[in-house]
Order: sequence, then C-alpha cells, then structure tokens
Amino acid sequence: MAWDTFATVAETRRALEQKQVSAVELATHYLDRAEALNPTLNTFITIDREKTLAEARLADQQRAAGSAAPLLGVPIAHKDIYLIDGWRTTCGSRMLENFVAPYTATVIEYMRAAGVVTLGKLNMDEFAMGSSNENSYFGSVKNPWDFSRVPGGSSGGSAAAVAAGLAPGSTGTDTGGSIRQPAMFCNLTGLKPTYGICSRYGIVAFASSLDQAGPFAQTAEDCALLLNAMAGFDPHDATSLDRPREDYTRALSAPVTGGKPLAGVRIGLPREFFDDGVAPGVTRAVLAAIEVYRSLGATTVDISLPNVKYAVPAYYVVAPAEASSNLSRFDGARYGHRAEQYDDLLDMYKKSRAEGFGAEVKRRILIGTYVLSHGYYDAYYLQAGKLRRLIAEDFKRAYEVCDVVMGPTAPEGAYPLGSASDDPVKMYLGDIFTVSANLTGQPALSHPCGLDEHGQAVGLQIIGNYLDEARMLNVAHQFQQATAWHRRHPAL
Ligand code: GLN
Repeated sequence: MAWDTFATVAETRRALEQKQVSAVELATHYLDRAEALNPTLNTFITIDREKTLAEARLADQQRAAGSAAPLLGVPIAHKDIYLIDGWRTTCGSRMLENFVAPYTATVIEYMRAAGVVTLGKLNMDEFAMGSSNENSYFGSVKNPWDFSRVPGGSSGGSAAAVAAGLAPGSTGTDTGGSIRQPAMFCNLTGLKPTYGICSRYGIVAFASSLDQAGPFAQTAEDCALLLNAMAGFDPHDATSLDRPREDYTRALSAPVTGGKPLAGVRIGLPREFFDDGVAPGVTRAVLAAIEVYRSLGATTVDISLPNVKYAVPAYYVVAPAEASSNLSRFDGARYGHRAEQYDDLLDMYKKSRAEGFGAEVKRRILIGTYVLSHGYYDAYYLQAGKLRRLIAEDFKRAYEVCDVVMGPTAPEGAYPLGSASDDPVKMYLGDIFTVSANLTGQPALSHPCGLDEHGQAVGLQIIGNYLDEARMLNVAHQFQQATAWHRRHPAL
C-alpha cells in the first residue's frame, strides 16, 4: 500500500470512508514509520503494536458493520499525559516510569467514540513543565526539521510526531503555551481551546486552573475535526463547561458573502506583541502574514494590552503554586516511584521524591511551596490572581474594537538543543505571548506563517474571545487556503 505519510486528518478520513485504505493498513504504516524514526527523533515513549492493531481491527469491523463514526479508523498519537486504561502513562517522569493507567481520560474516551485509533504515547517535558522538551526523563525530542534543534515543549513529541509524518494528528496539553509553541517550532497548527471545553479528567494535573487539552495537526480544518471529537461536557471535571456540543468545522464551509472570505473580520494588533524583544525574522514573517489577512478582507486595528507585561511573572507564580499542590500526591506510597532504601516514612517520602522528580519539577515545587507559604501568600499568589483579572480586562476591552488578536506565537523560532536549558528565566520568557490565554482561559491557536532568519518556522498566534473557536479556526483556514506554509514537510 502506498500511503502519503503527510496526508491530513481530513484526507485520511476520506480515504477510509471511500475504502481506499483500511484502519489496519494505516496503523501498520504509521507504526512501521514510528519504529524506524524513533531512534532518531525520540518522539514516542511507548509504542504498543498489539494494542494499536487491535483498535484498528475493531474500527475496520465497525465500518464493515455500517458505523459512520466521524473519525473511524483515523490513527492519532497522544501526549503521554493522558491516562489510557492498560497503557503505560509516564508524564515524561521517572516518577511514573512504570505506571499503567487504570482508567481512560475522558478526552480519549470521546475520541474513541468518534472512531480514533490510539497510535501510541508521545514524549513530553516532565509533568508538562518546559518549553523545549529537554526536561523529559526519557531524553530530548529532536525537531524533525533540524535534529540539532528543539521541537518546542512541553508537547514536543506531539508536534514532532505530526511534523515527521508519524501520525496525521496528535493530542497535547497547553498550560502556558505547550501546544502553540511546539506547533510553531515544528510548522504545525495547534489549538488551545477555551478553558473548560475539553475535560481534564484523566489528564495528569499540572496547574489545574490553566491546563487545557487540544489538538495538533497540519491544518486548521484538521484541528476543527479533532476538536469536534475531543470537546464535550464531563461530569467528572468540576470545571467542565456544561453546554451542547458544537461543530467546529461549521464556519469553514460557510458561504462567503461580499467577495472576500474574511470581510468584516477585525484583527487587533497589540503594540506589546511587536516590540524589540522579538527576533526580527519572526516579526517580519508575522507582518507579512497580516498583509495576507488584509488581502483576504480583514481589517486591522492597533490595540494595547498594558497588563500582558505581567503575564509571565503571574504565570510563574500561579503555575508552580498549583503544581506544588498537585504533585504532592506523588509520595512513593500511592503512586509511582518508591525509593528502595529508607529509614522511616518521612525518609521514604524524601528519597522517593528526590529520585523520582527531575530538576525543573523540583524547582517548580520549591517556588510553588514558597509562594503559598504563610506570609508570602498575600505577596505573591494573591497578587498573581489580581494580575490575572487585569489581563482579562485588557482583552475584554480589546474585543470591543476587534474580533481576534494576532501576533507572534513565540519571540524566536526553534533554537539549538542545549542553548537555553541551563537558564530557566530565559526559558520562561519564551512563554511571553502564550501564557495570557491560559491565565484568562481564552482560546488561542498557532499556525505556520513563514520562516525566521535561521530558516526556522514562524507561528502566527490568534487569540480569540471565549468560545469563539469556530471563527478562529475559519480565520486560520482562510489563510491556509491562500498560502502554502502549512504544506511544507521535512525530508524524512
Ligand atoms: N513553558 C510553560 C511551562 O513550562 C508552559 C508549559 C505547558 O503549557 N505545559 O510552564
């Protein structure tokens, strides 16, 4: 079977529907390719041929029996933060190196109900903490475009898998940019939905008020198809939005009125996203893309988000605070790694956590415990909460004059492995454009829009108002109808 390994989710689905290919053939193709390339890219933590092929066989049987599930037989790989019953789920940590999930995350259940076949579990920064995928206990993921560069993090495996043609689509999670930033570094489209759209149940918790599940794919259309499968109310998640399901592809096929496809769309360009902290090649590519948007009928308006300068400091108080609390469950007794030698209970906790967690995770636990401690809570955590509200108010004002906000996804493109890994603050500053959407809960996506001065992919970020995913996906889709940046593939 000759299969185009860079087929989109939409194309894969069509080929399955038209019986040009079977789910088993597809699963076999991608498993073979993953096994061949994993020694180079280190994208997967777990590949389990038997489990994947069993799911694929079931999908083929269901099709033969007349099922028309929307993604029946489409193989998708998942970030190793999603619990899947019977699958090892490591979260990129030694702490969970041998943990086999006893139940399945709701997002995965919903995807399975839509017919998705699980292709395996993808490498990631330990407990999703990082921006370069250099914090994984299982080693760094390589950027498929240039093996000497980072793929971005924390969902680096999710981005590298799709970019390398090891899967038509993948899942990630985004707490401060971990879908959008690796999507940029690997030349993909990635979406962080509105907080509460996708259930957090069965996803290992990092910072619960910020964590969101979302898709990676080559196109905005594919992200819409995947989000259709992932989203939905879940009574197991207290912050899940109880609302009817929607079709995120609906705007993509809406008839164009008035000639230009984006006529009437107002794009806000925040002054703060175009300052000199951004690599010139990144700014250049984003501004060129804004011109394309103008040619598609959109108008632009200059705006200001004065409080986004506090987003990184606020994020690096809130995220570690919540992480320190969430990670207290890893004590060597209930979950995960336990030290072999210890004197007493306290010593067992200490040694198990000292051995099980890596340096960045320990750093976050220390920061988080500090900012939550008596005497500092008011000075840090409470202040960060206030900043969150101020940032949300900035965006609220912006949406009085624009429909979507655009800017670069990250201040620079994929950088060489090792170049920032010993400087946590430098790494944190790379999150400057992404963390606001997590602090406020707004949806945001990144799509390919050009190359920087080092030939690395540049991502354009679209931030939208709450629950405005359908419009944002259509905006990106129209850009992709007019350009070819998203169709570039590495020679692999
Ligand atoms: N880079 C950010 C961090 O390290 C975001 C990570 C994420 O979104 N999971 O916290």
